[in-house]
Amino acid sequence: MKAITVEPKKPGTARFEDIPEPDVHEGSILVEAVAVGVCGTDVEIVEGKYGWPPPGKTRLVLGHESLGRVVDPGPTGGFKKGDLVVGIVRRPDPVPCANCAVGEWDMCRNGQYTERGIKQIHGFMSERWRIEPEYAIKVDPSLGILGVLLEPTTVIAKALEQVALIGRRSFWELRAVLVTGAGPIGLLAALAARSHGLEVHVLDRMESGPKPDLVRALGATYHSTSVKEVGFEPDAIVECTGVGQVIADSIQAIGSNGIVCLTGVGHGGVVTAEACADIAAAAVLKNNVIVGSVNANKRHWYRAGNLLARADRKWLSGLITRREKPESFQHALDRKPDDIKVVIQFSEV
Ligand SMILES: [Zn+2]
Repeated sequence: MKAITVEPKKPGTARFEDIPEPDVHEGSILVEAVAVGVCGTDVEIVEGKYGWPPPGKTRLVLGHESLGRVVDPGPTGGFKKGDLVVGIVRRPDPVPCANCAVGEWDMCRNGQYTERGIKQIHGFMSERWRIEPEYAIKVDPSLGILGVLLEPTTVIAKALEQVALIGRRSFWELRAVLVTGAGPIGLLAALAARSHGLEVHVLDRMESGPKPDLVRALGATYHSTSVKEVGFEPDAIVECTGVGQVIADSIQAIGSNGIVCLTGVGHGGVVTAEACADIAAAAVLKNNVIVGSVNANKRHWYRAGNLLARADRKWLSGLITRREKPESFQHALDRKPDDIKVVIQFSEV
């Protein structure tokens, strides 16, 4: 079968090639790939900055935002031929740490977890893949190809759960949320926050194009200013850019008792001790919490599935701005200004 593979940590090694059919030890459910979403992590792996092949192998099958159709449900019940499924990305570490032991692999303590398409397990960018029943999530069949948005939605399901849990430390009326960045994660954060009836503001550098339209279609407010200029004091900020200046501005702009939830992973230089002290002083004086959130556990996958199932299909379809064929995967990895979510489509839904 055909797959998109890469030799991790070696730039320029990605190719669309023939590989053996998936081995039964990878899971009792056999799935035919429908689509795989592309994100910044995939780009970084192809650029040689990140990623690990399975033990004893040199190449890794790329892709962690999956959607497929069950071809053979295997011996365990719960799935049938034709079901649309998405594969959970992370697997608990083998030790396991306390968090992995209770199914909170998203909170792994020792970093020995593995991830499909990223860290030591093949991903989903192959014509067929296998999955263990306990790591397969059924998606509402009426979503069709939109089910490929489930994995990025899980990131937001966890982030908003973190905000809600932390908010309970005091009397707190969450009203106005600022989302920084109108990429797929930011737009899904806006969708989720609106579904909770919150006043939602989304900030992005783009002044026109699909992003402002998608934000307004949710009944949210779009800003193409800096965080300092949004004109209100957010109760919570969901940071989805990973850009140093946006993070710094968010920490300054957050209201008293507010929460800044960081979901973007950026790169930058050294922070001076003085700047750290200023950030800490602002957090102390306003009782702020700055929390990082990564990955998702099964509870978040379940919640994300419910959110997508309830969402407006036309709005969701606006997030998928480009579909590429597997053999054109390089085009899928090239970022274009109006791209929101690009998917590689392996077969029709
Ligand atoms: Zn662990």
